[in-house]
Amino acid sequence: MDGSVAPASGCHGGRETMQEAARAAGKSETLDRLLSDYPRGPHDQPQSMCPAFGSLRVGLRMRRTATILCGSACCVYGLTFTSHFYGARRTVGYVPFNSETLVKGQLFEDIRNAVYETAKPENYDCVVVINLCVPTASGVPLDRLPKQIDGVRVIGIDVPGFGVPTHAEAKDVLAGAMLRYARLEAESGPVLRPRNAASAEPTVTLLGELFPADPVGITALLKPMGLALGATVPTREWRDLYGALDCSVVGAIHPFYTASVREFVAAGRPVVGSGPVGVEGTAAWLDAIGKAANVSAEKIDAAKARALPAIRGALDASPINARITVSGYEGSELLVARLLIEAGAEVPYVGTACPRTEWSDADREWLMAHGTHVQFRASLEQDVHAMMEVRPDLAVGTTPLVQKAKELGIPALYFTNMVSARPLFGPAGAGALAGIVAAQTRGKERFGRMVSFFDGVGSGDNAGYGFKGGVPEAHPQARERFKKMRLARAKALEAVGT
Ligand code: SF4
Repeated sequence: MDGSVAPASGCHGGRETMQEAARAAGKSETLDRLLSDYPRGPHDQPQSMCPAFGSLRVGLRMRRTATILCGSACCVYGLTFTSHFYGARRTVGYVPFNSETLVKGQLFEDIRNAVYETAKPENYDCVVVINLCVPTASGVPLDRLPKQIDGVRVIGIDVPGFGVPTHAEAKDVLAGAMLRYARLEAESGPVLRPRNAASAEPTVTLLGELFPADPVGITALLKPMGLALGATVPTREWRDLYGALDCSVVGAIHPFYTASVREFVAAGRPVVGSGPVGVEGTAAWLDAIGKAANVSAEKIDAAKARALPAIRGALDASPINARITVSGYEGSELLVARLLIEAGAEVPYVGTACPRTEWSDADREWLMAHGTHVQFRASLEQDVHAMMEVRPDLAVGTTPLVQKAKELGIPALYFTNMVSARPLFGPAGAGALAGIVAAQTRGKERFGRMVSFFDGVGSGDNAGYGFKGGVPEAHPQARERFKKMRLARAKALEAVGT
């Protein structure tokens, strides 16, 4: 399996087998931590790309940070391909292995040598080593790497597909490990000031990757409370981690950063969930942030008095009149649904691949009170089923969901495209979604014509065959015969114990 897509079943040869192997190889503590930080259920694992991509991306986006992967060549090929597809323009290090170097422990020595070769202080602040599935299952002990070499920090993390459910949560694995390292550094002595250290005002750190205009909008929201925006985690530079930790309050905009939250709590920082979306979301968020930062009630009211009328105006100027389902794996699905509802949309279903955490509780409760079914750890099947039942005017979702929607003649839009190309928060966010929803739902009639045009063309097994008469005849009896042969062979193999 290449690293671009990790299906729930068997990308890594069976989760239980790999977990057993990893435990036998001494990785029980790591697996227990991953299981408690990123709980499963209601089903095992959402379908999404290889989870390790999240950690890889966080490392590749940081200045003066080298990232080295250790895993099967096919996984590394897929992960590097995906990272360059998303414009990484950075080298991805790779330590290959074969069964001999893996079994004899030479692989750890190879990784150690690669880290020593890479850790040059003139080039890097930090070297990140990521164990993929096979090295994790084989117990390659990255915790035995030196903690620093000539002042270059070394961070080794295990990000196996059988332990981390989504690439979103894998971002937290690395962000949390970096925050921990930086917190311990700050506790033991003076550290560098962040390059863009704000004024003397107390700061708010945000958790989650945001559209570039959003921090600007959030800065304006915070200003009347005498607060400034600090760093956004994952950060773009090592020294920003110190700034992130040195805040008054943390806004967990994306609610799945469990390991990162643990570090902020250890540093004594209060953490607030949800985000400033729509009128009600913004009012509640400003209240919560203001209170956590000990801001006076007058200043909180002043911030609300400045922001809320502008947001109300933007929502009223661009009403959305459509039924929409929302599915995704970014972590902001609930916030997007809130904004759509405040703009007038009916949103009967939201599915997110992320787990339920206390940082999404406020959004979950608000959505449920507005008649929305919220599905955490949603599978593709659940998302598709909801879409088919609801028959929305627009389905916002993942690639396979959008494909299915188009087959059914339902206008659809990729969630990632929707949120990565426009602001979500404050007045700018309130005005941004309506245009794209209107443009997409206008296509409904065109989709209907397209479906009737292709009526009779093969689908599923027969996809790619021509119009009426061109689809091959089905032979269910042959299929049945092969199925019986397969079952008989499996039984025979089981009987001889292979
Ligand atoms: S690292 Fe694991 S989850 Fe990722 S592609 Fe390889 S086998 Fe699949």
